[in-house]
Amino acid sequence: MSIGRCLCGSIRWEVLAAPYAMYNCHCRMCQKIHGTGFGTYCFFHPNQIRWAKTSATITYYKSSKYLVRSSCSVCGSVVPYTNKKQDRWVAPGGCHDNMRKPDCNIFVLYNSPWHTVSSKIPSYDTYPEGSGLRNIVGLTAPEKTKGPVQGSCLCRNITYQVKEPFKIAHHCHCSRCRYGRAAAHASNGFVSFNGVEFQKGQNQLKSYKAANARYFTQVFCKACSSLMPSQDEETGITVIPLGSLDNDPIIRPADHIFVNDKAGWHDITDSLPKFPKSPVD
Ligand SMILES: [Zn+2]
Ligand SMILES: [Zn+2]
Ligand SMILES: [Zn+2]
Repeated sequence: MSIGRCLCGSIRWEVLAAPYAMYNCHCRMCQKIHGTGFGTYCFFHPNQIRWAKTSATITYYKSSKYLVRSSCSVCGSVVPYTNKKQDRWVAPGGCHDNMRKPDCNIFVLYNSPWHTVSSKIPSYDTYPEGSGLRNIVGLTAPEKTKGPVQGSCLCRNITYQVKEPFKIAHHCHCSRCRYGRAAAHASNGFVSFNGVEFQKGQNQLKSYKAANARYFTQVFCKACSSLMPSQDEETGITVIPLGSLDNDPIIRPADHIFVNDKAGWHDITDSLPKFPKSPVD
C-alpha cells in the first residue's frame, strides 16, 4: 500500500495495488497544473484506491472535454480524480514517495523549450496505443519565440510578464516541491521580488505557506489551481514555476537540487550536476 497526500496534508488517500499504467505527461495542461515540465499519472481501478482523510474541499476544474481535474483547495496540490464513468482513477505520482516506475512519456510533442526529455522509456505524442484513453484535441506547445517572457494559468484568469532575465533555475526534488507540485520534482526559475508583473488576475491568486517552512509558499490560481509565481518580500526573491511560462525563458535549469530527497520511482537521466541538498551548502 502507498499513502498519498497533498502538500498541506488535508487530503489523503491510499492505493492498494501497483498502478496498471503510469505515464509522464508533457501536455501543456499538466505543465501548468503542476508548474513543471511534466506530471506523472498513476492509473488505478476503482477498488485499488480509496480516500483516507479529507479535511479540505476539492477544487474541480474541467480542463478538456473528458477531463475534470481535482486539487486541494487549501494548498493547490493535484489530488486523485476519476472519469465520468468512474471506472478509472488517476493519482499524481508526485504525492507518493513510493510507486513503481513510469511506463512511458506521453504528449512529448508539447514539451517545453526549457525541458529536455532524456529518459530511456518510450516517448509518444499521444496516449500510447491500446491505453483506451480518448485523445485530447486542441493541445498547443509553448512558443519557442523569444521576446518578453509571459506566463499564465490554465484558465487564463491570471497572466504575468517576467520583467528581467532569470538569475538561475533549478530542478528541485525536496519533498515540499514534490508534494506541492504533485510531480517528480519542481522546476523553478528565480528573479527578484519585482521581477514579475501580473497583468491580470492578481486577486485570483491564493497562497499556502507550508507548515514549519520558513519561506516555502505555494501560490496558485483559485479557479484552476495552476501553480503561479511566488513573490517573497523578505527574501527579495520571486520563484517562478517554469511550467506556467508561455514562451521560451532562455534560461535552462542548471542542476538537480535536494536529490537526497528524490522520489524512489523517479530516475534522473540527464547529465546536469546533482546536489544532495542546496548547491550553496
Ligand atoms: Zn492540501
Ligand atoms: Zn497531461
Ligand atoms: Zn487559472
